[in-house]
Amino acid sequence: MTEKRLYIKQGWLENADRLLSPHFDQRPDPMDISLLVIHYISLPPQQFGGGYIKDFFLGKLNPTVHSYFADIYQMRVSAHCFIDRLGQITQFVNFNHRAWHAGLSEFQGRQKCNDFSIGIELEGCNESPFTMHQYVALTMLTKSIMSAYPQITKERIVGHCHIAPERKLDPGQYFDWRKYLDSL
Ligand SMILES: [Zn+2]
Repeated sequence: MTEKRLYIKQGWLENADRLLSPHFDQRPDPMDISLLVIHYISLPPQQFGGGYIKDFFLGKLNPTVHSYFADIYQMRVSAHCFIDRLGQITQFVNFNHRAWHAGLSEFQGRQKCNDFSIGIELEGCNESPFTMHQYVALTMLTKSIMSAYPQITKERIVGHCHIAPERKLDPGQYFDWRKYLDSL
């Protein structure tokens, strides 16, 4: 990413890659976008590159490529944005729509976090630190989101592990929350 600032217009980043995932629907209250959820994903697990995450969010993962893919290729999931190891941002779902990233989840007593959250997936896993490029891109993206959706304050940025603690670890032990939140 060379841009210093990302612009959001009508729910889309104007200067980032865009791939349209079919995995989304309407938010119950489009005015309530008030939580940011950070995730990690790698496909196959603990491997980077290959483009399989994009295929997965697009519903086009080839089940014959890897045994793990055969188990997950029919899952209908997505995130609003994905940040690869080089810090390249791709948007899959309009921010004003509901992406399917959080699953069974609860934040401050409220369930179904997909209803009112934006989801960002970092290409990563619990065994490797994230890259400098990813932190730079995530900070830039988060600032743009906070400015377009001011109900998302620093106190309302969480990991998947915080809203689904029984099921999820991400963004995992290597994600540097202090560095991230201080950069905003
Ligand atoms: Zn997650």
